[in-house]
Amino acid sequence: MPSPRDHQPVRVRFAPSPTGLLHLGGARTAMYNYLLARQTGGQFILRIEDTDQKRYDPTAEQDIIDSLHWLGLQWDEGPDVGGPHGPYRQSERKALYQPLAAQLIENGQAFYCFCSREELEASRNEQKARGVQARYAGPCRDLSPEEAQARVAAGAEHVIRFKMPREGSITVTDRLRGDITFENRNLDDSVIVKSDGLPVYHLAAMADDYLMKITHVFRGEEWLPSLPLHAHIYRAFGWTEPEWVHLSLFLKPSGKGKMSKRETEAMRLTGQTIFVKEMGALGFLPEGVLNWVALMGWSYDDSTEFFTLEDLVSKFTIDRLNPSNAAIDFKKLDHFNSLHLRALPPEELARRCMPFLVAAGLPADLETVTRIAPIIRERMVTLDEAPDWMAFFFKDKVEPAPESLIAKDLTAAESRAALARATAELEALPEWTHTAMEEKLRALVEELGLKAGQLFGLVRNATAAQPVSPPLFESMEILGREVTLARLKYALGLLETLT
Ligand code: GLU
Repeated sequence: MPSPRDHQPVRVRFAPSPTGLLHLGGARTAMYNYLLARQTGGQFILRIEDTDQKRYDPTAEQDIIDSLHWLGLQWDEGPDVGGPHGPYRQSERKALYQPLAAQLIENGQAFYCFCSREELEASRNEQKARGVQARYAGPCRDLSPEEAQARVAAGAEHVIRFKMPREGSITVTDRLRGDITFENRNLDDSVIVKSDGLPVYHLAAMADDYLMKITHVFRGEEWLPSLPLHAHIYRAFGWTEPEWVHLSLFLKPSGKGKMSKRETEAMRLTGQTIFVKEMGALGFLPEGVLNWVALMGWSYDDSTEFFTLEDLVSKFTIDRLNPSNAAIDFKKLDHFNSLHLRALPPEELARRCMPFLVAAGLPADLETVTRIAPIIRERMVTLDEAPDWMAFFFKDKVEPAPESLIAKDLTAAESRAALARATAELEALPEWTHTAMEEKLRALVEELGLKAGQLFGLVRNATAAQPVSPPLFESMEILGREVTLARLKYALGLLETLT
């Protein structure tokens, strides 16, 4: 069911924990947030959820920022750009959570818990042995507030737990799944503030979503089991809940199960990755990655597949999100990448090819690459292929294997004669254009009674001498008269050694 809140300016957040590199799932969540914010003229917020010190990775925040920038998903408020609801790192918001936890205690909706690890463990084991679902069963829930306060004042180590009602149920609406009812008796008295005084995700995220006036929460389906706790926290404070949107998960390419760490590493060895940072180096365009990821869990209709970020901003709707999990399909990424590669204006494509050409040690210049771009863009799948396709344009000399200059079904002498005629015809051309060259060489094919492939293959090997190359005549036009003729003559010399 659509919500009127989808059409008012939304406030949405991407709230990653800085525990590792930004992966595809995170990129998709960030993108859906961004789309709805831009569509409605609302705000997209980046919030860093760094309360878990054990899993904290100091390089992760920068990676998240760089990866989102690479994708072109700019936020309006965040740790680096500030905003009216900061700070945007949870570790810097500690002071904001304490009064909220105190309020819950005051209202009898949370309690101090002094149980030791051993006591909790023993209680869990005892429940397991009885075959019941393990949940908090210690005495602290029923301590009098005075006694609990006195123990806290005396410096007793403690956490704060949410006091889950023992009876009744809670019904929460997820936008993809409708109303979901959870029985309270199955829910635990979860820890909301740790012994170090820092809140856990459950409290911190709910508090921040409220304080930052978040209207829609997009997050992975793995958070569904926590939804009843989160709704209870919201309701305990009397806050209006956001729209809850739990996104489907990405499965392994085989479709069997979620991506694991081991899988991810194995994938890297085969030149595939789920990490945004590594996609650029593999030659993927942000446009291709966005299009691919957008359609893993959302569709516009059953046929449209090409979307720019702008298209997505205007067409995205929550109601077309799909709750089924999707297997990561790298063939589709290639497909979307090539679609977007073709859609780039030549100079832009050239600009993006340049780093790959330079890294391959080729003295490429933007002007020449811009001329090559139109004849190459239908063929290339990823930018890292640029040197494979273009190297011959930038080499001083190419070195064809002499045998590669023998045309199919011809002898070396016949090949040499054909190539000599072709060279002479081209040399005599008043205009060095691909149409003029093609016309001449087609006439020559006729005259010599050859097949086009025989002569053109020969000329191609003489001028490009690489396994893949763009269309011959356009290539020779770009190579220029002088270079082309020099290569043809050099090839003639090589053929001579075989005759
Ligand atoms: N910090 C949580 C995570 O990285 C965010 C979940 C949410 O968006 O609420 O999984």
